[in-house]
Amino acid sequence: MGLLSEGSPLSWEETKKLAEHVREHGINQFINLYHRLKDRQGDILKWGDEVEYIIVKFDDENRVARVSLKAQDLLAKLNEKEIADPHGVKSLWRPEYGAYMIEGTPGKPFGGLMANLNLVEANMRYRRQEVTQLLDKDECVMSITNFPRLGAPEFTYPIYYPKPDDPKSAAKSLYFPDEAIFPGHPRFKTLTRNIRQRRGEKVAIKLKVFNDENTKIPVLGAPKNEPDVVLLDAMGFGMGCCCLQLTFQACNITEARTLYDQLAPLCPIMLALTAASPIYRGYLTESDCRWNVISSSVDCRTEEERGLKPLRENKFRIAKSRYDSIDSYLSTEGGKYNDVPLTYDEKVYKRLRDGGIDDLLAQHVAHLFIRDTVSLFSEKVHQNDEEDTDHFENIQSTNWQTMRFKPPPPNSSIGWRVEFRPCEAQISDFENAAFVCFVVLLTRVILSYQLNFLIPISKVDENMQTAQKRDACRKEKFWFRKAHHRARAPELNGTVNGTKENGVNGYDENYELMTIGEIFNGKPNTFPGLVPLIRSYLQSMEVDTDTHCTIEQYLRFIQKRASGEFVTTATWIRTKVLQHPDYKKDSIVSDSINYDLLKKIQEIQEGTLIEPALIGQGNRSKTKDFLPPALQKHLALNGCCVGK
Ligand code: ADP
Ligand code: MG
Ligand code: MG
Repeated sequence: MGLLSEGSPLSWEETKKLAEHVREHGINQFINLYHRLKDRQGDILKWGDEVEYIIVKFDDENRVARVSLKAQDLLAKLNEKEIADPHGVKSLWRPEYGAYMIEGTPGKPFGGLMANLNLVEANMRYRRQEVTQLLDKDECVMSITNFPRLGAPEFTYPIYYPKPDDPKSAAKSLYFPDEAIFPGHPRFKTLTRNIRQRRGEKVAIKLKVFNDENTKIPVLGAPKNEPDVVLLDAMGFGMGCCCLQLTFQACNITEARTLYDQLAPLCPIMLALTAASPIYRGYLTESDCRWNVISSSVDCRTEEERGLKPLRENKFRIAKSRYDSIDSYLSTEGGKYNDVPLTYDEKVYKRLRDGGIDDLLAQHVAHLFIRDTVSLFSEKVHQNDEEDTDHFENIQSTNWQTMRFKPPPPNSSIGWRVEFRPCEAQISDFENAAFVCFVVLLTRVILSYQLNFLIPISKVDENMQTAQKRDACRKEKFWFRKAHHRARAPELNGTVNGTKENGVNGYDENYELMTIGEIFNGKPNTFPGLVPLIRSYLQSMEVDTDTHCTIEQYLRFIQKRASGEFVTTATWIRTKVLQHPDYKKDSIVSDSINYDLLKKIQEIQEGTLIEPALIGQGNRSKTKDFLPPALQKHLALNGCCVGK
């Protein structure tokens, strides 16, 4: 979830008054850290995943499943080992937004040896077992993106009812009680309250209902002018979803900027392929992904900033929520594709430039800093800008974008990192590990082959919306680059830069619409396909047999999901609902349908149920939870690393 400062949160009124203070010192801190760290070289590839989980409680007698609000108790137990031996544990556990959520990461990041790719699934399995041991018999830890009946009546255990009129309520939601917000750290309720107060009203998340034969329109709670909409009114509907993220360390800042840019166009593609969340508040919707939901769930922009009223109190019109797809590329090559006007304060930009930051990075940081702080702790107001980075991190960690460019933390051995954030959480460890390994390998291929996936930012934005449509993975087409070699890319002759006059159609013709199948498996005479590119890279690498077998399983699985032979989690969930005997063709996912769906998911994750449509004949990877010592020595001697 980002920065977890300890301390006493300030009220919104106090926080608001300090917005300029945080901005000013945050910028100073960034300038200082940049100069301390810009020349840092030679960091090796390290990478790690983050998986978020929901704790589900089953009432077998009544066939009801609820989210279990026990994350705080669970974390106290899960963190015991880490407290006793911070560097020796195999997993780390952190709180997340929901009182029913936890986030698990490996105990330390994985390294650059190819054989590390064979560890991640076993580590994910270990994490799941570690939690399961602490649960009651009727509970289950699940890596599902959204709990289908989140916000439907009595969805929590213990049951709590929302109190929208209670002046003390943080969310004031009609559906999502404050008790479902993680109570163990003040950040979560503070953000909820401050985002709502900054915006001037509750957040409004709107999803078109999946309109079936007997669907009742207006949908219960729909806005008057939009009767076919499922309306969600709290931060918890978005931040209470789970996702799969990964972070890589680059060898230096330039490589980090390249990876940030090259992976950005892959974000909507991976979102479509990992789509896993078609149901909200107990309704089937037209959307397959959490992205727009979570984006709207923390949309703190005022009416002025959203363009609904003339600017009086606020400085800017702002095009997007603070949770959204990135707005600009950071590398020199990427800069040519920044075709969306960036909003930022010229004074902030100038301070960064005067502080020695180049144009693209200054624009990026200035753009992050159009946001006000929405969570400030009294103990953290006054800082030493030479050493501290909390004010910078305050704004950085509440800009939740598809990619995050992460500077090294103060006084640590950690280098420049890039975080890949679009993927939805999958049911099984096999699937999650497959996507993680795929993206790690892709970064190696991008660097080794100097691949170029850049397309205009406006096209990435367009793809983000396409990716969330129902069954986009099989039905939609996405803008994707054809000329994929940086070295061999044709001269652009300034056509890309000239777009302001020419409009979007003035671009070079290096990209076209492709299906997900074509992007992953190849399109004759146009693009070799991401998986074939990875396979070709692997041929030049020395890989041990088990790791090779595991990677091959992952790649085959991804190829089949991309080609449509396997369906996405979202499509599988839809099918299960539509086929359920209790389904009344009214878009409603009742308690019993929800219960049966989650029971099936439990069997899939435990491996007792094989769903061929989802993962074929199941997981046959050769994942291990240790690196064979002999192999480690051998590979190190032969310099056979995933890194360059
Ligand atoms: P955030 O909360 O900012 O997303 P976390 O601190 O939770 O980030 O870490 C995200 C992931 O980064 C974890 O999987 C962790 O193992 C991994 N990680 C930690 N150190 C490094 C490093 N030096 N390089 C790359 N990844 C790292
Ligand atoms: Mg994290
Ligand atoms: Mg993260």
